[in-house]
Amino acid sequence: LYLKNNRNNNMDLKEKIIKLKEEKNAVILVHNYQRPEIHDVADFIGDSLGLSREATKTDADIIVFCGVDFMAETAKILNPEKRVIVPSIRALCPMAKQITSEQIMEAKSKYPEAKVVLYVNTHAKEKTLADCVCTSANADKIVNAMDSDTVIFGPDDNLGYYVRKRTDKKVVSVPRDGYCYTHRNLSGADLLKAKSKHPNAQVVVHPECIPEVQEAADHIASTEGMIRFCRESGNKEFIVGTEIGLINRLRKEIPEKTFFPLSPVAICGPQKENTLEGVLMCLEKENPEIKLPADVLEKAKKPIERMLELS
Ligand code: SF4
Repeated sequence: LYLKNNRNNNMDLKEKIIKLKEEKNAVILVHNYQRPEIHDVADFIGDSLGLSREATKTDADIIVFCGVDFMAETAKILNPEKRVIVPSIRALCPMAKQITSEQIMEAKSKYPEAKVVLYVNTHAKEKTLADCVCTSANADKIVNAMDSDTVIFGPDDNLGYYVRKRTDKKVVSVPRDGYCYTHRNLSGADLLKAKSKHPNAQVVVHPECIPEVQEAADHIASTEGMIRFCRESGNKEFIVGTEIGLINRLRKEIPEKTFFPLSPVAICGPQKENTLEGVLMCLEKENPEIKLPADVLEKAKKPIERMLELS
């Protein structure tokens, strides 16, 4: 009875959201790691790169951003004249907090010739210090496109490991050991356990995973890259090493194949802060709204646009 009531309640909420979204000319952009019921009301679902691209294309007056703080900020930077609202102010990425402007300035003074490439998982203030932003879909390509032998890179040192294996440049991590807690919790032991249960499955993992897991995988890619790989592979079974929200999308979009999470506890708490109730409420109140100082909006736009050009 509880499940039935919950389903009916969700149906109600979804209908209200879709109606209000149309009335207000709003668009709902949703990250792959969001709850399945939020995927159901999305106009676009994707990874950080796809969502950034989508944010540049929309002619909506309001962007409802269902992801975490740095993603909504990126949408605002690319659409300074639009209202960008979020369902929860608690959806804050812990990785984005791991890098500060002071750390970047210190690295710049140590390596004055180096270019700065920042993962999109950073706050707007830090992005103003970057020569270029990158996502997990294009990090190696962006680093290789920089016209310097040394690149200051942060905050994710596991993505830094992935990049180092694909470039001849010196990659200096700032901070030295930044990480995503959701992906760092995926261990080599988890991978071996999943492999012994599903010996015919291919292992596909995100580059935020630790080096040991990256080395044992059949393929490493961003979430969109993982979906593409699973769709195009001749294999029928996959062990998926990323936040479990992606499994929902994989099962929906590629129903003829089977997906197993590398670990069922790979859950990003901040991404799950957003709920259907939150989406409806923020649409009704047009709040909480992302606001950034004008100079930050202007300066942070350049490295994001540079990434979009290069990718
Ligand atoms: S999965 Fe990791 S990097 Fe992504 S939002 Fe969660 S904590 Fe941040």
